[in-house]
Amino acid sequence: MSDPFNGLRELYQEVIFDHNKAPRNYKSLEDATHSADGHNPLCGDQLTVYARLSDQGLIEEVTFVGHGCAISKASASLMTEACKGKTVAEAEQLFQDVHAMLTEEHPPHDMGKLEVLSGVREFPARVKCASLAWHTLHNAITLSDETAKTE
Ligand code: ZN
Repeated sequence: MSDPFNGLRELYQEVIFDHNKAPRNYKSLEDATHSADGHNPLCGDQLTVYARLSDQGLIEEVTFVGHGCAISKASASLMTEACKGKTVAEAEQLFQDVHAMLTEEHPPHDMGKLEVLSGVREFPARVKCASLAWHTLHNAITLSDETAKTE
């Protein structure tokens, strides 16, 4: 394995590059009502997801900090954009859809911008990178204190 990214180039589409280079909502959230840590030991990806939920269960703000590979970071960035302004129920549905998209042949429906992540299906080890932020958000908003692990 002289080049660890050999064969993964197709994954690094413009959107992935862009979100890795300039991740959206990359900050901790002082007034977060929910947070969780996520860890993907296979790759070394580590992140914390923060969310501020309204009394009505609306995700008013969602942010993340951490370090990891380009895919984990880009996926986290895309996750914050996709889930901000959604209800907890909608975010949970999106989490299920993303998981299906990453692991099954056909995405459940048009996933829009998030479809750039679907390329990781070809690389099972990378599925864990792409799903980490989503698992972590899921844990945060469902009040689990456990660290999300994509093992
Ligand atoms: Zn990774």
